[in-house]
Amino acid sequence: MKTLHLNAAAMLLALGAGAFCACSGGTEVKTEIAKWQYDKRGAVSITYDDGSVNQFNVAVPIMNRLGLPGTFFINTGTLPGSEWTGRFIGRPIEEIVEEAKTVPTDTVNFYERASASRYVPVKGAEDYFFRAGQKIDAGRKAEACAIMEDFYKKVADGTLPRVEPVATNAAADPDGLTWDKVRQFTADGHEFASHMVTHPFMSALDEANMRYELDKSREELLKQVGIRATISAECPYGTGDGRAVAYAQKVYPALRNGMHLEYMPEIMRGRPESPVKPECEYVQWQRGILSATPMDEMKGWIDTTAGQQNVWLVLVIHGVDGIGWQPMTSADMDAYFSYIAANNDLWTATFGDVTRYVMERMNATVSAKKRGTDIVVNLDHPLDKALFDLPLTLKTAVDPAWQEVTVTQGDAQTVVPVLRDGESAWATYQAQPGNMEVVLSGK
Ligand SMILES: [Zn+2]
Repeated sequence: MKTLHLNAAAMLLALGAGAFCACSGGTEVKTEIAKWQYDKRGAVSITYDDGSVNQFNVAVPIMNRLGLPGTFFINTGTLPGSEWTGRFIGRPIEEIVEEAKTVPTDTVNFYERASASRYVPVKGAEDYFFRAGQKIDAGRKAEACAIMEDFYKKVADGTLPRVEPVATNAAADPDGLTWDKVRQFTADGHEFASHMVTHPFMSALDEANMRYELDKSREELLKQVGIRATISAECPYGTGDGRAVAYAQKVYPALRNGMHLEYMPEIMRGRPESPVKPECEYVQWQRGILSATPMDEMKGWIDTTAGQQNVWLVLVIHGVDGIGWQPMTSADMDAYFSYIAANNDLWTATFGDVTRYVMERMNATVSAKKRGTDIVVNLDHPLDKALFDLPLTLKTAVDPAWQEVTVTQGDAQTVVPVLRDGESAWATYQAQPGNMEVVLSGK
């Protein structure tokens, strides 16, 4: 689809007098899909990882008070009552332990051994897996293999003491997250999304275990929350490993650790770049470690996002008030979120909803024609309507004599004002993509 413009000068050109001269029966009427929902100038998503308790006990009440939705990437297997919990998918683990006594760890058998290592009931197993995963993510396969070789040797010679296996969701924190709370927060407008079943280094898993983590976290969210909770995911440790990202992209359209849409390059957290890429339709700009960032710098991200018009700022938060990794204080959170909420140029939405809007818009077709004195608008996109169900914001040129416009789509009816700039007049309104036409009636 052609490039759309949003600034005032471009609007004047796009919706100029020429659009009205030809408004006789059946004539095309100029209509555009706004770059962001509600015709805002930029988007902000506030995202949280790992589901630590103060995200819900402290951050959610602040966000609810300010009317801001958040996205929470959770490990589905750790909540009480989850159907799918952490487990090894493959042959009996004893067989792998036995084989490792005589067959050295190499880059082929590494993935099975690493996947199984977390479930060998010895003290420190998860730590060996974690260190091997770090090496794989850094592209250092030989060192990763050496860590697994060392692990299985110590399992064989009894150096690592045996422990009783414990289910990942067995020792639930009484203050912790439950599926009932997840459903309640979802009803408040927040998004829950996959951080996999058990928070593994995905890059160190074999295909069967990687698929289990991706597919079963999705199935659990589908069963417990519904289809809208199945769009977004974050592979733990923000892995950029090509193999892991390629698998994850097949299951989740909104992948925070790597979406790679051709019209939206990402600028990931931890890298120094600013989002200045004016030639791109969209730029996803991730900023993390807010607890160690001066407030003025964080406010600057908001100002940049509102000023540049193609930026989607994605904030990545872990701990809150002493609980979780690099915790942000609730006082800073309150001050910063208040600053975000006060900026009327920004659309603050969940990670999933911004993805929906961008992907729907980039795949949509829209047309508008005169019918009598009305304007009839058709809007559609070819994506799965169950998952991509967000209304798009349309801007349609209208008769400058109109004072207000009644927008009707199916049973829904709203009245919107006519916006003007010199000779131009247009209406901005929400429309649901699909086969139901939108009728604009002016008076
Ligand atoms: Zn995490």
